[in-house]
Amino acid sequence: MNMKIIVTGGAGFIGGNFVHYMLEEYPEDQIICLDKLTYAGNIETLEPVMNNENFKFVKGDIADRSFVYKLFEDEKPDVVINFAAESHVDRSITDPDVFLKTNIMGTGVLLDACRKYGIERFHQVSTDEVYGDLPLDRPDLFFTEETPLTTSSPYSASKASSDLLVQAYHRTYKLPVTISRCSNNYGPYQFPEKLIPLIIANALNDKPLPVYGKGDNVRDWLYVIDHCKAIDLIVRKGTVGEVYNIGGHNEKTNLEVVKIILKELGKSEDLIQFVKDRPGHDRRYAIDPTKIRRELGWEPTTFFDEGIKKTIKWYLDNKTWWENIISGEYQTYYEKMYGNR
Ligand code: NAD
Repeated sequence: MNMKIIVTGGAGFIGGNFVHYMLEEYPEDQIICLDKLTYAGNIETLEPVMNNENFKFVKGDIADRSFVYKLFEDEKPDVVINFAAESHVDRSITDPDVFLKTNIMGTGVLLDACRKYGIERFHQVSTDEVYGDLPLDRPDLFFTEETPLTTSSPYSASKASSDLLVQAYHRTYKLPVTISRCSNNYGPYQFPEKLIPLIIANALNDKPLPVYGKGDNVRDWLYVIDHCKAIDLIVRKGTVGEVYNIGGHNEKTNLEVVKIILKELGKSEDLIQFVKDRPGHDRRYAIDPTKIRRELGWEPTTFFDEGIKKTIKWYLDNKTWWENIISGEYQTYYEKMYGNR
């Protein structure tokens, strides 16, 4: 069956990759991207699909109720997939307010629009950060869908709040929802404030590579297209009302990741510069993806060795995409965080 899908946050990193993936995979479906184009949204990410007749870009705020209702009334979507969010932990520590507005209020507006106009599925793209963190000395522990929500940053608290709202709308109004909680993503089109693109961009420019604390925090990395495939599968085959964890059992310390990138680029480890740790920094994230594997047959297909090479190649081949970003407003933010280096 052909579907009309509203993808919010499609000018961002994962949403952008999802839009590309879906238009290629399902040429009969229609995709409408709703994005506010905040500092993290980049219309250039969608340039390759702008002329696709099954694609439409709409600039707007998910927290703007009258705008969202009008869009639903005009478009009558079958499915809504919510990627739109303020997504950077450091920014949530310095300015939590916008995280509450977009991540909580914005999700609430989308849920109300879904109730009012009727949809077949609302999917919430969430994060493993809603489970808090795990100790570094217990490699036997993993986040399952039953792990209690225990958040550390305003970002993760706002994402957990939106997950709870989504679950409440299912229970109270029988809204057909699903939620996915994924580990850290990497791949093309990621904004260069996040670890992997930041390290690639700085290393290419021979700039110091800021690494928090001792660099021993552990993240569970997944190639972005594997995340997109998992969301697609959940929307088509997942059970309504359920949460699915997504992760590829690929844990690495931040320092390991930085060293792998330096090796690939042939740059010196002398560029590494340890900086004061992030307040409340989560120690370890590790996802148990048993449920999505068992129930939906999902498996990651791109392993880190290959994925990081593909990612580095993409940043080398698409320098203008990220150079435009790091020369603009982002530079002011970067200097505030790490000084002028
Ligand atoms: P991103 O910051 O790259 O993109 C977010 C997009 O949302 C941007 O295009 C931005 O313009 C848009 N946006 C922000 N506020 C908006 C608003 N009020 N209305 C409409 N659009 C708005 O984020 P990302 O890394 O692509 O993450 C996408 C989603 O996936 C987020 O919900 C995030 O919590 C979740 N997630 C991310 C990761 C990761 O590793 N990046 C892992 C798990 C889950």
